[in-house]
Amino acid sequence: MNQWPEWLPLKESLRQRTPYGAPQLEAEARLNTNENPYPLPASVVSAIESSIGAQLAGLNRYPDRDAKVLRQHLVHYIKKHVIKDDALSITSKNVWPANGSNEVLQSILLAFGEKAAGFSPSYSMHRILTESVGKSFKSVPLKADFSPDFEMLKGFLSARKPEIFFVTTPNNPTGRSLNSSEIASIAEAMAVHRGLLVVDEAYGEFSDEQSAIALLDRYPNLIVVRTLSKAFAFAGARLGYAVARPEAIDALQLVRLPYHLSALTQAAGIAAIENADILLSGVSQLKASREMVAEGLRALGLTVIPSDANFILFGGEALVAAKNLWQRLLDRGVLIRDVGIEGYLRVTIGTEAENKKFLETLSELLPRS
Ligand SMILES: *Cc1c(COP(=O)(O)O)cnc(C)c1O
Repeated sequence: MNQWPEWLPLKESLRQRTPYGAPQLEAEARLNTNENPYPLPASVVSAIESSIGAQLAGLNRYPDRDAKVLRQHLVHYIKKHVIKDDALSITSKNVWPANGSNEVLQSILLAFGEKAAGFSPSYSMHRILTESVGKSFKSVPLKADFSPDFEMLKGFLSARKPEIFFVTTPNNPTGRSLNSSEIASIAEAMAVHRGLLVVDEAYGEFSDEQSAIALLDRYPNLIVVRTLSKAFAFAGARLGYAVARPEAIDALQLVRLPYHLSALTQAAGIAAIENADILLSGVSQLKASREMVAEGLRALGLTVIPSDANFILFGGEALVAAKNLWQRLLDRGVLIRDVGIEGYLRVTIGTEAENKKFLETLSELLPRS
């Protein structure tokens, strides 16, 4: 599609590509990128302002390369909110923050192995990042109900022996979670050929399952990747982090850019984590709304994939029969996501007004049965 000029020595493998990204369009209800719909409350805005303000005169110097204070805050957050165990043996050495979890994922791919793999459908950036650093990615199809076929997976892993396997849980775009023993069984299968299991928990705060961080004691070959972009209502700040054994964290330092995380991002992140209770207060509302939206979709005769995240994948005959549904919703001010799965669309849970607008508009557009 792209006509790149002759003089530009673009890599062959990139020539047919387009940059990743959902359309950033204005719409009354923007329900396409799984952000938290609630703006930051004024009290948190001022806390972030003063935290950033304290850094400004010092911007002539490079930031703390090791983000020591931010790391301590992340450790505290994990113990208090994620695993809820003060005795958990996680320290700053187990944590590495970066500019969004996408930077963490890219660093993992730069540091480890030649072959990566993951389920399909899942987060498409895992493949895109793998291929953009010149490595190969193979996908293992999920079953028709979007759950993994563990027998098939084990056969695949022992034959292909990828150094990296990605699991997204709750999965994007399906919303389904794996439980701890399922994660453990994949980690075990990866360990047989000295592979790493990367668990992408971008939606972890919305899930009823335990974080894979609790498995780090038993499985050194785990890297858990999390973000402040979703539940934390902090997507614009770009902050994600890895939680892993110190040796794996040390290996990531070999490929990180010098001073990759700005003093401003670190300061904003520290203030955000200090206000975690407030920033995460929308999560229970969003989970309740998720069940209401699921109910509304079922009432319209649609199929709903059970979701443990802040979005829902839905489909069914009525959706297929309503031609061009994505565009027609957008024309009426409702932006959702076509994730490229035939017969399905994905909607992010928004504010109550947005959810209502989505369900009402959808019901107008579906063919009457
Ligand atoms: C949204 C999302 C991310 C978040 O990326 P950031 O770079 O942290 O904003 C990571 N993984 C998955 C599966 C996601 O859906």
